[in-house]
Amino acid sequence: MIPAPFDYEVAESVDQAVELLGSRDDAKLLAGGHSLIPLLRLRFARPALLVDIGRMDDLRYVRDAGEQLAIGAMTRHNDLQHNPLVQEHTPILSHTAGLIGDPQVRHRGTIGGSVAHGDPASDLPTVLTALDADLVVRGPGGERTVPAEEFFRGVFETALGPQDVLTEIRIPKLGAAGWTYVKFTRRAQDWATVGVAAVVRRTNGTIDAAAIALTNMGPTPVRARAAEGALKTPDDAAGAANVVAQESDPPTDTSGSADYRRHLATVLARRALEEAISR
Ligand SMILES: Cc1cc2nc3c(=O)[nH]c(=O)nc-3n(C[C@H](O)[C@H](O)[C@H](O)COP(=O)(O)OP(=O)(O)OC[C@H]3O[C@@H](n4cnc5c(N)ncnc54)[C@H](O)[C@@H]3O)c2cc1C
Repeated sequence: MIPAPFDYEVAESVDQAVELLGSRDDAKLLAGGHSLIPLLRLRFARPALLVDIGRMDDLRYVRDAGEQLAIGAMTRHNDLQHNPLVQEHTPILSHTAGLIGDPQVRHRGTIGGSVAHGDPASDLPTVLTALDADLVVRGPGGERTVPAEEFFRGVFETALGPQDVLTEIRIPKLGAAGWTYVKFTRRAQDWATVGVAAVVRRTNGTIDAAAIALTNMGPTPVRARAAEGALKTPDDAAGAANVVAQESDPPTDTSGSADYRRHLATVLARRALEEAISR
């Protein structure tokens, strides 16, 4: 289908984008366009105004910020996959970015668009939830920082207001922690039927801390606290995987039933935990 008519403006700064978003009742930002344009073409979204931030290269960066990496919202998936700072300090993010879609999607899609879209099948929001990332938002009232776990509110719903721009993602460096992200797809390049992010800190035979988050197992990324608490030693991977779906509320759709997803999450979590522990 052809999109419904809309006006189009190019924003050259975050402040200008915030102002333009406030100029109409139903204005939307356009970043890489790889989630929004399909919605426009299906007429599931009919904004009166598109505010294009795709040329704002000053939001496309990765910086070492001491104990964190600071990543600009316009940083593309392909940049995340290949950036040396991301590979060194948050390798789970570069690994996961490389699993998104196909090369065209990874060269156009941005981390900010992926987060702001709030699709429960997206991979990066799950990883950011497991990593306890902070999301920096600029709106008419100034700047605020929202923890990833509070940012995602429901299917396509986030903490962003109608005039807010997500500007930066701050991620604690992983140090020596073991990590992985695994996802199951029915066809190559599909969204995840289920995905599991795991980060494990261990000292010899003891697990000091674990973070586990799930993709497409509820309306938002799901933090699997029961499984995290069950992982005390490397031998607990299977036991922890058995309770990984405890806090989830998976959908039933053409990719699988809720029960199938619960089973798949258990299988993937066991693989993910064994891999993260062995790293
Ligand atoms: C064929 C295909 C396969 C895909 N496969 C996967 C996959 O396997 N895994 C996966 O995770 N994703 C997948 N995607 C989605 C892809 O990662 C998108 O690029 C991403 O979800 C959206 O990023 P974007 O920059 O294209 O955002 P856009 O489409 O431009 O915007 C998406 C939404 O976010 C808003 N927005 C964008 N930037 C900001 C910002 N800085 N501040 C506030 N709001 C903002 C827009 O207004 C819009 O509502 C796929 C997409 C396609 C087309």
